[in-house]
Amino acid sequence: MKIYIATHNRHKLREIGQILPGVELVADNPENVVENAPDFTGNALLKVRAIAARHRGEWCMADDSGLEVRALGGEPGVRSARYAGEPSDTAKNNALLLAKLAGVQDRRANFTCAIALVDPEGREHTVVGRCFGRIAGEPSGSEGFGYDPLFIPDGCDRSFAELAPETKNAISHRGRALAAAKAVVAAP
Ligand code: IMP
Repeated sequence: MKIYIATHNRHKLREIGQILPGVELVADNPENVVENAPDFTGNALLKVRAIAARHRGEWCMADDSGLEVRALGGEPGVRSARYAGEPSDTAKNNALLLAKLAGVQDRRANFTCAIALVDPEGREHTVVGRCFGRIAGEPSGSEGFGYDPLFIPDGCDRSFAELAPETKNAISHRGRALAAAKAVVAAP
């Protein structure tokens, strides 16, 4: 089985490969897709439709993810990658998030990952995975990427950036969304 994936991110491809063993993954990043949907699922659909148009009769998949902080009304949300402006800068994003949460007691947050699939008959499927936790007072850890040094998942006293990749994948928003996507792909 083959799935076209709308990404050029090697980390994502490897993670998807671990969860979907035996599936041939073909990266095909869509150019010129303006990710302007109001939510993660909308953006994942925009991306998967762009590649499905050129791979008719095949499975296609795209994802979109980000961090949602309750006390900030869901920010940074779909703007997670460019929260502190263009071009995307992880250190600036994390610093801005900490500044906005200075003095804020409610640190609850969650990562969300939406995956959109188009099956060989052209039908669309969407799944969502979430991981709940809280935003730390300061960064810690050097694994992972993005907001990982600031995010402490529920039931854990260490940040995502202090966890081994397999440990993070087992509980992460992306791991959960991929597990749900696997069920869609495996369905008869
Ligand atoms: P993407 O849609 O997966 O490319 O994610 C968009 C942005 O959300 C990234 O640039 C990160 O800032 C943030 N993000 C998504 N997933 C994670 C994660 O697992 N850890 C940390 N940051 C993440």
